[in-house]
Amino acid sequence: MKVLIVGGGGREHALAWKCASSPRVEHVFVAPGNAGTASEPKVSNVGIAAADIEGLLQFAIAEDIGLTIIGPEAPLVAGVVDRFVAANRRCFGPSAKAARLEGSKAFTKDFLTRHRIPTASFATFTAATFDEDYVRAQRLPLVVKADGLAAGKGVVISDTHESAIATARAMLGGSFGAAGSTIVIEEFLQGEEVSFIVAASDGQVIALATSQDHKRRDDGDQGPNTGGMGAYSPAPIVTPALHQRIMRDVIEPTLRGLRSDGNPYLGFLYAGLMIAPDGTPNVLEFNCRFGDPEAQPVLMRLQSDLIDLCEAALAGTLERHEVRWDTRAALGVVMAAGGYPDAYRTGDPISGLDDAARLPGKVFHAGTRMVGKDIVTAGGRVLCAVGLGDSVSTAQLQAYNLVHAIHWSLVQYRLDIGYRAIQR
Ligand code: AMP
Repeated sequence: MKVLIVGGGGREHALAWKCASSPRVEHVFVAPGNAGTASEPKVSNVGIAAADIEGLLQFAIAEDIGLTIIGPEAPLVAGVVDRFVAANRRCFGPSAKAARLEGSKAFTKDFLTRHRIPTASFATFTAATFDEDYVRAQRLPLVVKADGLAAGKGVVISDTHESAIATARAMLGGSFGAAGSTIVIEEFLQGEEVSFIVAASDGQVIALATSQDHKRRDDGDQGPNTGGMGAYSPAPIVTPALHQRIMRDVIEPTLRGLRSDGNPYLGFLYAGLMIAPDGTPNVLEFNCRFGDPEAQPVLMRLQSDLIDLCEAALAGTLERHEVRWDTRAALGVVMAAGGYPDAYRTGDPISGLDDAARLPGKVFHAGTRMVGKDIVTAGGRVLCAVGLGDSVSTAQLQAYNLVHAIHWSLVQYRLDIGYRAIQR
């Protein structure tokens, strides 16, 4: 079978690498891919943008692609799966209606409330309904969120009422374009964040290996929020009891709610949770796709066939399907361009990739491209170096051995990925 992976980041490199390892797969295409997917055996890039839904469909028909897996959220929210399904092409991901769980925070907060799924208390505003007195009456800190997709930047935590009001007014005034024309203001939750990712097919569900990521740029979880500076799997905070509670209180009612609302869910579903000190799994957000960088360590641990898993979901036989995991821990360290998550430089040649390839572990590419014989930086998050080990500490050691072999001008990375798990 031929497979098409849509997207060009680290998650898509990991998906393509994993699919290519299946004996059932003849070739994997990645649209548009990166320098890492271009040099993977049995994998090649096609120059179609992830947003070009018609282009992707025409390619899938022309190449007789047996399975398409969508990596990023934007094409899902824009309806790529609906378009493929209408053309009778198998595509793994949620419909546009189900993907609203990620596409609109106001929709999701309303959904969570209606289905009694734990989440922070909140209010939703437009420019016409914004109420400064509401804001002044809330306890600090406050969290102000743009409703729509804002590339991971639409969440601002405010320590004063005045800064929350200023942020709200800026969002409503267009600082995030249409994504901020509706905003959500919510209570700040204490606790520890967990990413909980499942493969879902309507009411059937398989939880993937647990993981945790580091969203802040600097060591000690300080500095600005980013798309993610590293992740590891398993997440020791998710005990069997907490796992059960997340399934019972969050995942199952979410899938039931989607179904009863007429939007059955197929695909990876990612719940970003804040585990309260009393163990309540509060939903911070849903993503309608695999996490990035969580996909890289999680897929390193997946021993069974990813194609089989997607096919079982598409066939509605997920409940009878079994996934096998490497019992070792995996840990990924993101190597980012200097300046990220603000303005950053691209086009810097990356050295040491060949040396790293001879070491244990795996370097997944994200923002890279080929220029002649060189691989150069082409994004904010450039690489994710993943190590495996009997414990999170040994996986961390292996990952940093890879990191230390690689260099470019102004590279930045955290030195403490996994510290919470290691402390535990
Ligand atoms: P989101 O895109 O909603 O997941 O928000 C991005 C990040 O902001 C989360 O990963 C949290 O670190 C933080 N965050 C969002 N909402 C809250 C909240 N209600 N309380 C505390 N932190 C939050």
